[in-house]
Amino acid sequence: MPYFMRFVMLLVMTCLAGVALGSPVADASRCPTIAVTDANDRARLLHHICYLKGRPGEVAWQASTPDQLPPSADWTSANGHDLVFAHSDTTYWFRLNVHNPSDRAGLWYLKLNYALLDEVTFWTSGRDETHRLVTGDQQPFFTRGIDYRYFLLPVTLEAGEASTILLRVRSSGALNVPLELTTPDRLIADSNHLTLTHGLFYGALLIVAILNLLLFITSGTAYYFFNMFYLVAMGLFMFAMGGFANQYFWPDSPRFANTSVPFFMGMSVLAMTLFGRSFLEVDASQGLASRALSLQSLGSLVIMALAFVLPYSQSISLNTVFSLLVIANLFVIGLIRWRQGYTHAKWYVLAWSLMVLGTLIFALAAFGYLADFLAREVMMQAAIGGQVVLLNYAMVQRWRVLNQKLLEVEHSAKIQLELQVHQRTAQLRDAMRDLEQANRKLADLSLNDSLTGLRNRRYLDQMVPDLCAESRRTGSPLTMVLVDADHFKRLNDNWGHSFGDLCLQRIADMLTRHVRRPRDIVARFGGEEFALVLPDTTPEGARKVIEDILADTAGTPVSTTGGETVTMTLSAGLTCLQPGDSASDLFRRADEALYRAKAAGRNRVEIAGCSQPA
Ligand code: GH3
Ligand code: MG
Ligand code: MG
Repeated sequence: MPYFMRFVMLLVMTCLAGVALGSPVADASRCPTIAVTDANDRARLLHHICYLKGRPGEVAWQASTPDQLPPSADWTSANGHDLVFAHSDTTYWFRLNVHNPSDRAGLWYLKLNYALLDEVTFWTSGRDETHRLVTGDQQPFFTRGIDYRYFLLPVTLEAGEASTILLRVRSSGALNVPLELTTPDRLIADSNHLTLTHGLFYGALLIVAILNLLLFITSGTAYYFFNMFYLVAMGLFMFAMGGFANQYFWPDSPRFANTSVPFFMGMSVLAMTLFGRSFLEVDASQGLASRALSLQSLGSLVIMALAFVLPYSQSISLNTVFSLLVIANLFVIGLIRWRQGYTHAKWYVLAWSLMVLGTLIFALAAFGYLADFLAREVMMQAAIGGQVVLLNYAMVQRWRVLNQKLLEVEHSAKIQLELQVHQRTAQLRDAMRDLEQANRKLADLSLNDSLTGLRNRRYLDQMVPDLCAESRRTGSPLTMVLVDADHFKRLNDNWGHSFGDLCLQRIADMLTRHVRRPRDIVARFGGEEFALVLPDTTPEGARKVIEDILADTAGTPVSTTGGETVTMTLSAGLTCLQPGDSASDLFRRADEALYRAKAAGRNRVEIAGCSQPA
């Protein structure tokens, strides 16, 4: 930036006869006297100023007071051009002849609008004596006499008084010497306006920095912290550059005045790197960009350390080059991220474009390639302000998008969950239905006989006690018949077991065909034995049914696979429920009757325990 190079400015009034302080007779045509009361003249100050350069070794370089200047010195007119010098190692002398043509005494100020000149000495030679003011940022702040961040020389002139002002400037680095001759009113007004601008700028910077710090504390999001760091570093850098830091932070440490600028510059570069990395989400997957940023961070740390070691002019040149590289690099990385589809990078690139422009202009002004440092400073502040607004807007956008994404994720997760619950419920319902069917089947299986499809013994055991109780309660008759196939063993032996099974199925068909009332039970009792339980049926009725069955069976031969026909016969034992009977009494008596039927020659019915004779 501007202060880096040494700058020596010699202001010499080449013109005007007479008034010089032991200097050579100035050429009035080169350095015309300025009428301080004339606002037009004051506005054309640069047409009245002459300067003399003293290269190292020359007399003008060695001279420490105006009277040591050689009489033959060749003063040059500024000729309306800005006093901007890109050379270092040169002592500059400036000269201005002033005259108060009015009939009243007055006070004017010669103002040097640049805070970071190392050594500035003013000489004022009036009617009576010569005054000297030695200042510069290598001197403690109080040497300025007036508490102001730039250098001010009060010029008091009696009515009609003429005077010559000489100014000697040395600094490390190329410099500009923006001089202005102004009235106290103007000075106060300008200073007020500038104070407002600066107050707004630094105030806004501070508030946004605090806001970002709070956001970081509450959200834990790193880029808020880095943005805060960047704002603080940039603010400190601008504060030091503008001369405020010398005025307010370390007025008694002129040494640090020069160190602080490259130091804060390095800090700003570190901060912009860290912020860029976090905002642009550059991680290890962006190989080259990530490495470049790491290198930048390291470089800025080195540069911050070097600020305490290197001479000012070297450290500031190094920093300027490094900063420009970093800014350009961040700009490129922003562009790359944008092209990679990271949309927030668009804002970053926009903000950074402002920054690149502002910094370039600022650096050029600082190096003495552009005039009017003051205006550049305002431009730089505007650029930083714009950048801060854009970056913070981008952060809000980013936050909004992230939030929206979060909501979307939450929403879709909810829908997904609902869907899953729905699916699971349906699956569960299906499973329950299957289970119910299986249970029903199982219950069926456990109460039915698999070969014949009739009820089984278990079913009988469950039902008969209930039917007995009902019959006792209602007084209605209950009849049971046990049926057994005759010589079934023989049938199995002669035609095989599967033929035997077929015959059992035929018997089952026969039984179900004859026993048809809804409440009747036909069950396979075990092996080739069957049971009929006939509620509300008298022994006569039951006997009729069973005799029909026996006759039908005997009259219906079964064909074997070999084409033979086999005639089956059945024997049956019939009984009725008697008062005081239990279910087992009923079974036992029916079995006894069956036994009798077998004994009596088979293919017949025997009756036991029915009070009415059947
Ligand atoms: P009876 O009753 O006339 O005195 O002679 P039986 O040959 O039928 O006598 P028993 O009760 O001793 O024999 C029963 C036979 O029934 C034994 C077995 O061979 C046959 N049997 C029992 N259960 C089944 C079955 O589920 N399938 C087949 N094929 N045969 C069976
Ligand atoms: Mg048997
Ligand atoms: Mg038998």
